[in-house]
Amino acid sequence: MPELPEVETVRRGLQPHMEGLRIADADIRRPDLRWPLPPDLRQVMTGARVTGLRRRSKYLLTDIGDRGTVLWHLGMSGRMLIEGASQGEFHRDPAVYARHDHVVLRMETGTTITFNDARRFGMVDLIRPGQSHPLLDHLGPEPLDPGFTADHLAAAFAGRRVPVKQALLDQRIVAGLGNIYVSESLFRAGIDPRRAAGRIGRARIADLVGHVRDVLADAIEAGGSSLRDHRQATGELGYFQHSFRVYDREGQPCLRAGCAGTVRRIVQSGRSSFWCASCQR
Ligand code: ZN
Repeated sequence: MPELPEVETVRRGLQPHMEGLRIADADIRRPDLRWPLPPDLRQVMTGARVTGLRRRSKYLLTDIGDRGTVLWHLGMSGRMLIEGASQGEFHRDPAVYARHDHVVLRMETGTTITFNDARRFGMVDLIRPGQSHPLLDHLGPEPLDPGFTADHLAAAFAGRRVPVKQALLDQRIVAGLGNIYVSESLFRAGIDPRRAAGRIGRARIADLVGHVRDVLADAIEAGGSSLRDHRQATGELGYFQHSFRVYDREGQPCLRAGCAGTVRRIVQSGRSSFWCASCQR
């Protein structure tokens, strides 16, 4: 499932092929994905100029001037494909079936941008001019923005008995953090994912804020390098390989220097948490 760094990588990959350019045609091939698509999506997008390409949490936002904004979510398996007008610029991976191409945008340059989603948990919606969207209304600060501070997190955690893992997944506290990067951030900060959020001292919260930022920045950088390697070959955006220090490493030795512990896994709120009981307190 794409998390914030993957979505940011997709945004950066799409930017040169969309921003400032007109959508010559928007081919909408299904009435629904996870939810129904707006019936006038084709009409609104066709002929529109992309005035901006933004990300909020795990959503991609395509601004189309006075026509509003298109909101995209990649869901579980969604990907964006770029296919060039000039032959041979990009080669589609034959494993990515065209029958899962649900939205195909032909840009004025001839490049096509395709939203392909085999499992159809993704979504595309319109934010009308001057409106907001219920999925964006209650999101907390972006973890990489200046609003995500130790003061903010300390206030959000104060008095909370829920495990810190669960608190960090709460999108009202901080937007866009998912299971993988919460596990990685808590490992880097040396905090036990089961610890009550309200029982973490101020200095450790400040340290945690720094680790959340670092872990995301590292992953975005890894995404950027995968983009450079990969985009030219296939034009497929959305997934890349990371090396995780703790996520999905159950039973393997802890990677913290000087720690002889073993990575464990527990299920919290229905999702796996990975941590080292020797060095995360
Ligand atoms: Zn350890």
